[in-house]
Amino acid sequence: MLGKGVIRMRRIGSLLAGEHKVNESTTKIEVKNPYNQELLALIYSSSIEDVENAIDNAHEVYQQTMRSLPAYERSKILRKAAILLEERSEEFARTISQEAGKPIVEARGEITRAVQVLQLASEEAKKLNGEQIVMDSAIGGEKQLGFTKRVPLGVVAAITPFNFPLNLALHKIAPAIAVGNTVVLKPAEKTPISSVLLHDLLLEAGLPAGAVNIINGYGIDLVKPLVTNPKVKKVSFTGSDKVGWHIKELAKEKPVTLELGSNAPNIIFSDANIEHAANAIAMGGFTFAGQACVSAQRVFVHKDVYEEFVSLLKEKLEQLKMGDTSDETTQLGPMITEDAAIRAENWIKEAVAEGATIRTGGTRDGSFLAPTIIENVNPSMNVVCMEVFAPMVAMIPFDDEKAVIEQANDTEFGLQAGVFTSDINRAFNIADQLEMGGVWINEVSVRRYDHFPYGGVKRSGIGKEGVRYAIEGMSDLKFIGVKLI
Ligand code: NAD
Repeated sequence: MLGKGVIRMRRIGSLLAGEHKVNESTTKIEVKNPYNQELLALIYSSSIEDVENAIDNAHEVYQQTMRSLPAYERSKILRKAAILLEERSEEFARTISQEAGKPIVEARGEITRAVQVLQLASEEAKKLNGEQIVMDSAIGGEKQLGFTKRVPLGVVAAITPFNFPLNLALHKIAPAIAVGNTVVLKPAEKTPISSVLLHDLLLEAGLPAGAVNIINGYGIDLVKPLVTNPKVKKVSFTGSDKVGWHIKELAKEKPVTLELGSNAPNIIFSDANIEHAANAIAMGGFTFAGQACVSAQRVFVHKDVYEEFVSLLKEKLEQLKMGDTSDETTQLGPMITEDAAIRAENWIKEAVAEGATIRTGGTRDGSFLAPTIIENVNPSMNVVCMEVFAPMVAMIPFDDEKAVIEQANDTEFGLQAGVFTSDINRAFNIADQLEMGGVWINEVSVRRYDHFPYGGVKRSGIGKEGVRYAIEGMSDLKFIGVKLI
């Protein structure tokens, strides 16, 4: 158990067949706390040979153990892991807060969710039921029995981003274990520490060594040999759209799940509860400094309430406490790197040069970007059409329902949206018309619970996560028929 304060500097290599292996000769990558640049760990990158070993281990453990491990055993391991994680929640929360630069209160929220993902997976492991097929529905099907069985696929390649380093890794690992697969995980090189802690915790919970192997280093070096290896049967990626679609091409005919980015629309009608909507956007556009794939980005507000809404939102954002991520009262931390903050600042400057105006924020101090409201934008500005991934919202007034739906859909992305209105008919009609993987009514786009189907359309991805739905994507429905003779 580590202390309450700073985590000790670690050497992170590859986790192969349950063992930590450090290659002294490979590329080293520093892992720093984005808040104060403290050096937290040094990654000794995995080599191509390590990638192959990780896959071989996962393949062997799948063949020898995991595919035949009974459901009650898989369920028990996941349940024990949930208990251990809950016991160590503070250690994990501090680790995430430090490696990702996440305010400690938000990091604790990530642990609460991660515990639930393990609990849900533990429950789902026992519910992998198939169905009996009525065989004589088809001509010639008389005197036959047919049924389906959900079966594992084998080795799953899991590649994850920096922003929810523990929970997004678990969204792949926990369903994989629930159904009897094994995993090779490639965590984000900016935030690998929580995955290493998770690996050790899973072993302690009883997971066979080698059922989860971890390779560390840059994606550009490690992901191609990982996803193209014939022993890998499923690729599950969460990260940016550009990298995701590239990986889909590399993986060729393998089943692939892509959980990618967006520029989430939120639509506020004049009959909405404006105070509630302003609170929702103040949270949903700015939690973890706007670095969530479903962060509110394009905020469409009806002209009749536009001024009232923006004034209220500005007031709320100016009260957000920015600063030390270990402070219990901090609400807004830094962005993941100074480069990321500079990129966002440049997009704001470009928009302003083209006529946009800033209601609040727009300033940068190192990797901190002040919470920003930008107005008078047009659809071709990066702050509107690209994924901003920063503490910033673009305000767009509207007065016509049909036109605002068209504007909200006028994007390459389609992950989640929010609609705020007290008219239930309008709410459902709009939910049907929005080209999104999910739509919230009277809730902000960023809201996610770990059991509902989650995943985008268009450029935002393919397939679904959310424990039960991830299990479906990581398994096959096998038909078994019997002819009675
Ligand atoms: P990223 O795409 O840069 O990195 C994600 C993973 O891909 C990392 O492990 C990285 O090492 C690897 N990678 C990077 N470049 C690669 C390359 N050229 N080839 C192969 N692998 C490569 O994403 P990020 O900056 O860590 O995370 C932010 C992005 O993730 C945002 O776009 C965000 O919207 C998205 N995201 C999506 C979801 C979702 O569930 N839809 C959730 C969280 C984050």
